[in-house]
Amino acid sequence: MSSTPTISAAGICYLVGAGPGDLGLVTLRARECIERAEVVVFDALCNPAMLAWAPAEAELIDAGKRAGAHKLKQSETNALLVEKTRAGKIVVRLKGGDPFVFGRGAEEALALARAELAFEIVPGISSALAGPAYAGIPVTQRGVVSQLTIFTGHEDPEKGGSAVDFAQLARTPGTRVMLMGVERLASITRQFLDGGERPDLPVALVRWATTGRQETLVGTLADIAEKAAARGFEAPAVAIFGEVVRAREELDWFEKKRRLAGKRIVVTRTRKQAGALSAKLTALGADVLEIPTIRIEKPANEREFAELVKDAHTYDWVMFTSPNGVDAFFGWFYRLYEDARDIGGARVAAVGPATAARVKEFRLKVDLQPSEAVAEALVGAFEKEQGSVENLKILLVRPETTREVLAAALTKKGAIVDEAIGYRTVPATAAEDRTGATERFRQEGADLVTFASSSAVENFLALGLPLAPELKFASLGPITSATMRARGLRVDVESSKANLDALVAAICRFYAGKK
Ligand code: SAH
Repeated sequence: MSSTPTISAAGICYLVGAGPGDLGLVTLRARECIERAEVVVFDALCNPAMLAWAPAEAELIDAGKRAGAHKLKQSETNALLVEKTRAGKIVVRLKGGDPFVFGRGAEEALALARAELAFEIVPGISSALAGPAYAGIPVTQRGVVSQLTIFTGHEDPEKGGSAVDFAQLARTPGTRVMLMGVERLASITRQFLDGGERPDLPVALVRWATTGRQETLVGTLADIAEKAAARGFEAPAVAIFGEVVRAREELDWFEKKRRLAGKRIVVTRTRKQAGALSAKLTALGADVLEIPTIRIEKPANEREFAELVKDAHTYDWVMFTSPNGVDAFFGWFYRLYEDARDIGGARVAAVGPATAARVKEFRLKVDLQPSEAVAEALVGAFEKEQGSVENLKILLVRPETTREVLAAALTKKGAIVDEAIGYRTVPATAAEDRTGATERFRQEGADLVTFASSSAVENFLALGLPLAPELKFASLGPITSATMRARGLRVDVESSKANLDALVAAICRFYAGKK
């Protein structure tokens, strides 16, 4: 990490701002902290996807709902942070938005300071700023307003004893942004009116700002409470009171451009896989559920695999059938050798574009790229390249579970094939569902499930999740579609090419046609 802790004792607690929801709005510093955390204590408003950045062995504690029981009281959270930090742990306290903006971060920092424990503050992008920005509302604007006030609507003004002086707020010039309190909007707007603010003052509410679920409601001081009640506009939301709200008519950018807004889309993934598809869908406004289906584990006989990797240079060809196989192979290769040239004269074949792309990440050229893992296509590709496969020595890197058709087809044509079993896939367990996506799918369902491979179909179905009749299914291409149909699933969307951009384009076309 770039900076050193203030106190050299091993334990430290980072009070980290998790931003307003969009993963792209998390700071690099926050991510660094999460990546090395031993304990993460998080709140309901943190985007749970960032928990996947924590090391697999990190302890994750939901301060909003601990072990399904009650919400931790503030004093209990403080005590928990002190206890874990004192035990010498690297603790990350993840809080929505910024930890010091109505996040009770001050109380937690004080508890740590008084216990003489090391802590650091990692500021985050507050919903107080991001909410208006994502609704196309500038909180200050030259010539319109030059003052910004942020207040909490947490306390009911009519109950008395509120720390917020509403009469004064009503007279305060400039933009006023309220966090919390949408439930008390009727009473709060009444206080503003009683305090002398004009009834036609523009007011906007932004809920689930910066996420796939963002919605904005615009009204005036006189009617916003009624409108919100009629729409069932609930927390979490920020409210913006002020002239600047009018700018949204021209500046709304986020809700307008999102072709998949309001769609909840499932992406199946392995814990290690990069969320490339999720990122593309999220950028278009979809609410993405990343459901873990499998975990990649070491093969039963890793020693044998390592031996074969070591001998790779004695083969004419090394053939890969999946990106995971490429990772397993080079993981060992670079533990055994320091120089890429130690692969000798072996040439490289990779089945499918994703596998080839992974090989290239290791700076090796792909000499042969059969598009499909179909025996005939593969043998055909080899024959076209080499004339015949007879007596070619081929090292086939593959997972433990695939049906063995490739090796047999090559052997039949006279090739000498050794199979290097590099990894195995096992079904994901509840522990893998760190983002809570599986649970959300069970409770709320989704609009569409995407499958990027046949194995994704099999692995997803193996989870036995409830599939509503109106649920739609999208496929990366004909091979995946065939598997879907064989397993009784309808193919509602099929990508024209076997790559993620084409899949996303097909999904957009599907929904555009429906509008
Ligand atoms: N520290 C946080 C605020 C915590 S108080 C921050 O800086 O953003 C919780 C309140 O924050 C919610 O009631 C809501 O008013 C607001 N909030 C947090 N995330 C939000 C989001 N994504 N969209 C709208 N409001 C949000």
